[in-house]
Amino acid sequence: MTFEELGLKSEVLKSLKELGFEAPTPIQQKAIPYLLGANSDFVGLAQTGTGKTAAFGLPLVNNIENHAKTPQGLVICPTRELCLQISKDLEIYAKFLKVKVVAVYGGTDIRRQMTEIRQGASIIVATPGRLMDLINRKAVQLHEVEYVVLDEADEMLNMGFKEDIDSILESTPDHKNVWLFSATMPAEVARISKNYMTDPFEVSIGHKNQSNENIDHIYYVVKEKDRYAAVKRLIDFNPDIYGLIFCRTRQETGSVAEKLAKEGYNAEPLHGDLSQAQRDRVMERFRNKDLQILVATDVAARGLDIDNITHVINYNLPDDIENYTHRSGRTARAGKKGESLVLINTREHGKIRAIEKQMRTTFTAGIIPNAKEICEIQLMKLINKVISIDVRERDIQTFMPTIMAGFEDMSKEEVIKHFVSAEFNRFIEYYERAGDLNATSGKGDDRGFEDRTKRRDRKGDETESGKTRFFVSIGRRDGLNPGGLLRLVCDATGLNSANVGRIDIMTSYSFFEADNEHSDNILKSVNGSNYEGHEVNIEITKSKPSGGGNRGGGGRRDGGSFGGKFRGGRDGGGRDGGGRDGGGRRDGGFRGGSDDRRGGPKRDGGSSRDGGPKRDGGPKKDGGGRPRSFGKPFNKKSN
Ligand code: AMP
Repeated sequence: MTFEELGLKSEVLKSLKELGFEAPTPIQQKAIPYLLGANSDFVGLAQTGTGKTAAFGLPLVNNIENHAKTPQGLVICPTRELCLQISKDLEIYAKFLKVKVVAVYGGTDIRRQMTEIRQGASIIVATPGRLMDLINRKAVQLHEVEYVVLDEADEMLNMGFKEDIDSILESTPDHKNVWLFSATMPAEVARISKNYMTDPFEVSIGHKNQSNENIDHIYYVVKEKDRYAAVKRLIDFNPDIYGLIFCRTRQETGSVAEKLAKEGYNAEPLHGDLSQAQRDRVMERFRNKDLQILVATDVAARGLDIDNITHVINYNLPDDIENYTHRSGRTARAGKKGESLVLINTREHGKIRAIEKQMRTTFTAGIIPNAKEICEIQLMKLINKVISIDVRERDIQTFMPTIMAGFEDMSKEEVIKHFVSAEFNRFIEYYERAGDLNATSGKGDDRGFEDRTKRRDRKGDETESGKTRFFVSIGRRDGLNPGGLLRLVCDATGLNSANVGRIDIMTSYSFFEADNEHSDNILKSVNGSNYEGHEVNIEITKSKPSGGGNRGGGGRRDGGSFGGKFRGGRDGGGRDGGGRDGGGRRDGGFRGGSDDRRGGPKRDGGSSRDGGPKRDGGPKKDGGGRPRSFGKPFNKKSN
């Protein structure tokens, strides 16, 4: 279906063309033709990321009379950030129309907003509190309002705007159309629909209360005292993470962010104790990808509307299940994949079951990666960084004789070992004595894999297009790890790591993906080879299992892999080109905030720096200092 078929004006179609929107999203397909009609009360159950802003924004600007000076459209949304975002989007949609959009929200000078409204506003986008203020001051005329859009209605009600919303709806003409959008449908939202709408057309993208299909929900069971250490491991295991960590209180938010920042992670807090200016600054940095990890409370993160967030980490579960929907919905936007990771203690399994039931989704039991796995990921990143770095021949030419003389007595292997050690010793030392953080350790391992197997059976196993998926007859029990499998394949075939994709190591078998064109070579060369005394046999798997929850037979091979775990670390490392976040990021990892911001030349792993205790501290357990990750600074320029 095309936008042309939906019935939009040519001026609106023109702006869509400029914007580069090629085809309407499912909610747009369903909503737009209806909202263009005369009587159009509407309920849209959709999360952010589905294209809902355009679903109401396009018909809204389309329906408003050109040159209208008194508001005909009113959009109410929960936060200032969302308010600015929506008004910006509406202005773009209305670029070729004479429709004036004014945003009004709290925390800034009300008089300026009053002036803007006086000068003429066809559409007002407002947060409820500020709009009420303007109504009480009689600074806004609502008698010509034809359309009231309530965006993120559930969030507004959660935030205590129930009375304001009622008052606003009461202040507008009876014959108006109400378009309500909400991710969930709690009783309070249903009440608004009952009281203020006549026979609304309801569109639901996915089931009611259901989570976005593109989100992998994974929970980890840890002891209370290990929560923080576990979060660090999850970050270290996903060096290219662009993530949002949710905490329950402002205090916890501040303390987690502070600890992370001190230990060299590029992290900052966002909570209600910050001034509006501070919050704006943090949001801006996060939006621009100058900031890699945002640690936030539920309230502060409301309305945070950013694409490409790869991971949401729930430091704690929220008290309210609805909040979990909002939290996890911050990732996997606009058709992308994302992971929502949850840390729970041994008594919180029931909460996971409750969320699963309410959201009609399934959680996977995850295993906090161990030190070796993390070191492998980080090492892989380092290797990829070195391989893909641009060598500035002209700049280093003058130094080459000195450099070569310095390494004169070393073989190539020795030089590599020294360089890797210079960068990596600290990391290895740090994790050397790090124990198992899984509270269900022992039993947990098997359970985790079993759960993943079940899940894959149900969902189907997706092989990346252009890739063939191989089953490998050995696994973790045989001492195999991702690095080992990569080496095995590359050594046997003469291919390089760029030809190999996702690797899943299971207890007694494994999988990997490689470019289709190399399948014959791989089959011929790897079959019958030897890995640390174990004969290795491989075969091509069928990419889709028969499904239906069947775990016997085929389930073992086709359904046995677990997704996500390795993707985060490896995709960004230069081999898959950052496929996951769609940003094409090759080397977008981070090195720790303070280094990045200094901007000067970096002495990566230089001896003088490593020698001192400084920020990274000496080798300690998880609770203490932490070595840096590798890779370019994390910002949009690396995209
Ligand atoms: P929303 O759900 O309104 O927050 O939109 C999520 C993202 O999808 C935003 O970045 C929009 O610009 C983008 N988007 C919305 N509709 C389309 C479309 N039809 N084609 C491409 N991108 C879209």
